[in-house]
Amino acid sequence: MSVKHSLPIIGNSHEANDPAEFDSITPSNSANLVPNRSSVTLRTLGRAPRFLWAVGRHRLKGDVGPHSLTHTTTFKCNYHCKEICDSPLVHQAMQKKPNGHDLTTEEIRDIYRQLPSMDYVRFTGGEPTLRKDFIELSHLAEAHLRPIFFHMTTNASMPERVIQFAEERPRHVPLDLMISMDGIDEKHCQSRHNRFAFERCMETVKALSARQKELKTNIRVNQTIADSEGIEHYRKLHQVLKPFQVRHQIVMAYNASATYAVERDKTYAPSREELFTPVGKFEKSELNAFFTEVQADIQSELNGPERWIQQYYLDGIRERMLRNEPSPNPSCVALSSHLRIFPNGDIPTCQFNSHVVGNLRNQSFREIWNSDLRKTQFRWVKGCAGCWAGCEVQPSAAYTGDLLLHQLRS
Ligand code: SF4
Repeated sequence: MSVKHSLPIIGNSHEANDPAEFDSITPSNSANLVPNRSSVTLRTLGRAPRFLWAVGRHRLKGDVGPHSLTHTTTFKCNYHCKEICDSPLVHQAMQKKPNGHDLTTEEIRDIYRQLPSMDYVRFTGGEPTLRKDFIELSHLAEAHLRPIFFHMTTNASMPERVIQFAEERPRHVPLDLMISMDGIDEKHCQSRHNRFAFERCMETVKALSARQKELKTNIRVNQTIADSEGIEHYRKLHQVLKPFQVRHQIVMAYNASATYAVERDKTYAPSREELFTPVGKFEKSELNAFFTEVQADIQSELNGPERWIQQYYLDGIRERMLRNEPSPNPSCVALSSHLRIFPNGDIPTCQFNSHVVGNLRNQSFREIWNSDLRKTQFRWVKGCAGCWAGCEVQPSAAYTGDLLLHQLRS
């Protein structure tokens, strides 16, 4: 694939791969390059036994190999978020300091070749569209990991690139596109330190919302609620987004995440005494009213698994923030069904524990996965009190079967 980018690129040093290279990966993978609607359906059905086996293993607290991948392809970002970047703890690449650690396209291809197939591949950052190979990576993922769907989290600062990704990724694999926002107009712009930030998000929403079906793309606006003003802006943003038929969901901001920490081997996992520490201060009454409002929106606007997932997150955050109760509290699947890869090839333990179990630039995946260090960290995960960050909660809810059980209990 030859992709022309009209915008300046901060990125890895290698040229984009030619699609011919994908043909030479393994003979059996070449068929995946042909868009084929039924292949993803068959893939989904074929994964069912493996999924059920994983659910059983997790319920018995057993160890399993990865089924889903969160690939932080770069820590570089072209915005400067108050809540994250101003922290002295935050990774240097996000603070625009020199960083030459990101894996190259070729290194990523070699890593993907070693991994088992994944139910979903999530590209995140930093800002993943800053890499010049951001579309090529989706083709490599399709060729080697055969996901049932892609996910990309973006700040939508460059609408052209987000649209390009929706159009030029392997189109037969559905895309869950998550646009990160903090509110409307000035609120969002101030939060990102960029006066065009809100305009660009809306440009992306407008360009893609009517094409969701054609592009097999589900657009979600993920609003981070960091303070009481964010609650007010939930209502405003909900009204702004209503005509576009895109999903609007919330995530309550944690006060710290090990993922963005400068130093590795940091742990910010919750304790039983303090299950959720928000970044801002809230009155319990305002939170209660807010969660009730979000619940009403979920019930009236969403259906099926999408509704279950949002309700599950909401129930868990409400219990934690209002009553400090860990309910629901699935067994965590970090470092087992859910694999994270950092931009330099490190495999961290999870979002709140950046203790690295190995580096895929220097070691094989098999070597890392079978190592005592990975097993030690896996045991740490199983003893964790349980966090409530959406990107960790969702795989844990799915691969333990707790998402379904919670529905049946409700
Ligand atoms: S619940 Fe899992 S993802 Fe969350 S802090 Fe604990 S081990 Fe990490």
